[in-house]
Amino acid sequence: MKFADEFRESSLARDLSRTLAREAEAIGRPVRIMEVCGGHTHAIFKFGLYDLLPPSVRMIHGPGCPVCVTPRAVVEMAVRLAEQPGIILCTFGDMMRVPGRTRSLAQARALGADVRMVYSALDALEIARRHPDRTVVWFAIGFETTVPGTASAVRRARAEHLHNFLLLCNQVTIAPALRAILEAPDVRVDAFIGPGHVSVIIGTEPYRFVAEQYRRPVVISGFEPLDILHSVFQILRQIRSGRPEVAVQYRRAVRPEGNRLALEVMEEVFEPRDQEWRGLGVIPASGLALRPPYADMDALRVFAGLLPPALPDPRGCRCGEVLRGVATPPDCPLFGTACTPSYPMGACMVSAEGACAAYYRYGRSTAAQPAAEVGEIARS
Ligand code: SF4
Repeated sequence: MKFADEFRESSLARDLSRTLAREAEAIGRPVRIMEVCGGHTHAIFKFGLYDLLPPSVRMIHGPGCPVCVTPRAVVEMAVRLAEQPGIILCTFGDMMRVPGRTRSLAQARALGADVRMVYSALDALEIARRHPDRTVVWFAIGFETTVPGTASAVRRARAEHLHNFLLLCNQVTIAPALRAILEAPDVRVDAFIGPGHVSVIIGTEPYRFVAEQYRRPVVISGFEPLDILHSVFQILRQIRSGRPEVAVQYRRAVRPEGNRLALEVMEEVFEPRDQEWRGLGVIPASGLALRPPYADMDALRVFAGLLPPALPDPRGCRCGEVLRGVATPPDCPLFGTACTPSYPMGACMVSAEGACAAYYRYGRSTAAQPAAEVGEIARS
């Protein structure tokens, strides 16, 4: 199959659905599968895949949304940085609307701060070239998908002797987060649907501990409906056979060895550091810090005094539990009332990959309730 339509073929989806039902029956117990990546969460809702899964298979949403896991204190620091004279703060569009303690970056911009939405670190670097009299801060977020781009921008800034380019770095890596979830006493996950885009960069090796040490399957999946259903099938097969392993369903994009060039540039520029995640606390070696030759570009060092102490989520907000998979968005008392995409209280309602945004847009109140736009495959 080469084109998106082929991965949305309804008759194949129905066939797969029947096969899944047989597999689930043979397993004979409930199975909880965490889709790590918010892109999968949105695809599951958008295409009504809940309607095609056996009742004993429960999907749990994971922490794979970079906007959602950025701690509130770091968002607040970005706002404070943007409000410093002479600063241009560059960030992805989704990050603009996440509330810090006082306000969001979008609100700071409305009040006069120079906040610019860009599509990549290299866009931010170009702004630094064009404004040598200003300090440009790239608010770097994301998993391994975006890290190579940030690392390239850092290397180029150094090569060009640009001294006005800094990073507010909140880049994170996925494997330590999976370990934290597996170790959390209140989370029960039988298997993972692995993130497709991250795995294009890192390949399969970083997940091996999940299968070998924790005896849980990982299937790295594409983002189309048949990709996801096929990944669930592979997971059920592994559970039934009692042989967990790391498998790649998304073979058209992911190679087991990953992208060596991207891994090399990441390795040259960044080193692991302990990192706080919204909802998961501090996870050892889960974040990335600039290595010593680039450390002078770290905005956290240059403007250390602007970082507030840890900030809890707003009262009532359950983003942290949603990100750990122990609560669903409708469990939050603010969902759909005080917190909506237009007036978000938490990050999970803002991001295009956030679970609360997915429920609001497609599911509204429960995972099993199809909205008008979804269930199209199931009904056709
Ligand atoms: S509904 Fe809003 S406040 Fe509640 S968990 Fe989701 S993002 Fe947080």
